[in-house]
Amino acid sequence: MNRLKDKVAVITGAALGIGRAAAIRMADEGAAVAVLDIIDAEGEALALEICDRGGQARYWHCDVSSEAEVARVMTEIAAHFGRIDVLVNNAGISGASKPTHEITEAEWDLVQGINVKGVFFCTKHAIPHLKAAGGGSIINLSSIYGLVGAADAPPYHASKGAVRLMSKTDAMIYAPDRIRVNSIHPGFIWTPMVAHFLEDQPDVDEARQGVAALHPLGHMGEPDDIAWGVVYLASDESKFVTGSELVIDGGYTAH
Ligand code: NAP
Repeated sequence: MNRLKDKVAVITGAALGIGRAAAIRMADEGAAVAVLDIIDAEGEALALEICDRGGQARYWHCDVSSEAEVARVMTEIAAHFGRIDVLVNNAGISGASKPTHEITEAEWDLVQGINVKGVFFCTKHAIPHLKAAGGGSIINLSSIYGLVGAADAPPYHASKGAVRLMSKTDAMIYAPDRIRVNSIHPGFIWTPMVAHFLEDQPDVDEARQGVAALHPLGHMGEPDDIAWGVVYLASDESKFVTGSELVIDGGYTAH
């Protein structure tokens, strides 16, 4: 309890999956949480759930690929909660999974627009508020596929590699402002994103077991496995940690 007392945290793509778990854990640790997403019913319900648990939260509709929307929402959050201390760039999509020579420009741009430009827009428009707060923490959701390759989903893997280095660049640029920037690299986590990905496979159960077996620990992770990493990087426990990669992958990248 209280690891994030008095902090205001913004989480994008927070209605489901990893973002949802991170929002709940951050609120339980005392943060006031701005829940951002494009699926309003689920986002509103999560904000209510957090308030019912005794936490502080409010939902904003925010498509991270729209700079105007991101800029307006960041201003509204700072006005509502009085400050912004933490930004979790979590919103992301998996996009087309087929060989590079079959990917269309539109399929490529769709993924980069959310996974890369979304991180850029949210960081750009949160920074003035983090500076005004005297510092803060930005946590970018990359992936194991920001560290190693795989023979599928080229736009996604490119986007997560970009997020890894955007994190290191911003860590260096904003260190003098006491703003820390780190990336998290999850293995497969059982969320709606992964469920949809596996639904497209001919045998879902077999595909699920196959994915689980990629991890030396023998199973996929849960959203909370990542949420606790988010809490750590958001808290002052990680005050000497910036530009780093927090790998939470059941050993996937250890071989
Ligand atoms: P998820 O279950 O699909 O949840 C992501 C949320 O973001 C959804 O509510 C989604 O809405 C929303 N979203 C999509 N586009 C958006 C946009 N333009 N603006 C704002 N919100 C948007 O995903 P997840 O599995 O929790 O993944 C969260 C992050 O972790 C992603 O960046 C992902 O790449 C990364 N990650 C996940 C895994 C994994 O195994 N799950 C592994 C490595 C990294 P819709 O449902 O309408 O799309």
